[in-house]
Amino acid sequence: MGCIVGQATLPAMKSRSSAVWNPARFDARAFAQAQAQLSDHSTLSEWPRLLAEAHGLDDASVRELPLAWAIRGEMRPGPAGGEPQVWLHVAAKLALPLRCQRCLGPVPADLQVDRWFRFVADETTAEMEDEECEEDLLALEPKPSVLDVVEDELLMELPLMVMHDVCPEPVVLSAGDAEAGSATEPERKNPFEVLQALKRGA
Ligand SMILES: [Zn+2]
Repeated sequence: MGCIVGQATLPAMKSRSSAVWNPARFDARAFAQAQAQLSDHSTLSEWPRLLAEAHGLDDASVRELPLAWAIRGEMRPGPAGGEPQVWLHVAAKLALPLRCQRCLGPVPADLQVDRWFRFVADETTAEMEDEECEEDLLALEPKPSVLDVVEDELLMELPLMVMHDVCPEPVVLSAGDAEAGSATEPERKNPFEVLQALKRGA
């Protein structure tokens, strides 16, 4: 494949190698055998499940937040002379604004994934072996979306409890208070305006 590739033949991914290693239907064995690496930068708007967790998800700047991920494949000898095993390292990074449970303001959360996975034949094998091994398992077949794996792992990094150490804004006690506050705003100006009017009149 040449350096300049017709747009029609390329998937949405930018790098040339990702056209070979289809992240949406990922051949982990071939990837590991080639000791391949793949990385990409995208924006939060391309990751709907993560975007749904963001504070201010309708905000254009939130949708443009950078998400970086990288994967690396490796074959390792199996136990006791068994079949070589397929391993994949997944790294990902995202600074995601979450909603503070006290003041409802944004709290930045640094989500980071840095983990090895071992691939087994299928999901049944993964379930069977899951209890007796410490590493995380994924199934070779059906071929997974590596993008889903990245998103799953970042979602698992979300803190259960989100709160500022010290909230930056005074806590608004209730919606009623907030309304009362805004309602008094014009009234506070009125005496001054009346005064100005009196001065002009005088
Ligand atoms: Zn707060």
